[in-house]
Amino acid sequence: MESQYSPHIMKMILVGNTGVGKTCLIESYLKKHFEENTPTTLSPNYSTKQITKSDGSKITMRIWDTAGQEKYQALSQLFFRNSDVAIFCFIAGDRESMLALHEWINMVKNESPLCKLIFVGTKSDLIEKNESENRIRDSEAEFQQYQSPLIFLASSKTGYNVENVFRAACE
Ligand code: GDP
Ligand code: MG
Repeated sequence: MESQYSPHIMKMILVGNTGVGKTCLIESYLKKHFEENTPTTLSPNYSTKQITKSDGSKITMRIWDTAGQEKYQALSQLFFRNSDVAIFCFIAGDRESMLALHEWINMVKNESPLCKLIFVGTKSDLIEKNESENRIRDSEAEFQQYQSPLIFLASSKTGYNVENVFRAACE
């Protein structure tokens, strides 16, 4: 996928309630490292990573970590502008954080109508293996209104599916 705005830089945002694991997901991807006690993100900030896509082309991903608190929502919204892809995070099996995403999706779509949406059920290490299928089915049902949504369960702690999430985001 190429950026709407520049062929070489892609803007990616991670969105979702406080505590769902956005910062850890980025850290796990960039540093292959998991921290139990990440400080709460207070203001949006980004990291950059060069990616070689499967077709051999190179792209720079600018990965924005956003703040989930309500009082920062208006501010966060500014950072959603011109996004190419948004990774919507909820805790796998946690209905509240999943339902909260509808509002986040509206905010992102207002700023970036063409943005590609990816859904990640985080902290998959905390759910039973035999529950994974159910959790994926629940989220597919919840997000089916967003045209064939891409949904992953992932764990920043074990690294499970972390690469795949970011790979899907940039292909
Ligand atoms: P954010 O507010 O969305 O950025 O959430 P953080 O990345 O700060 O994570 C919130 C809490 O969840 C932290 O205490 C993390 O250690 C924990 N956490 C994040 N990802 C995982 C995961 O994959 N597995 C487990 N077990 N805990 C996680
Ligand atoms: Mg954070």
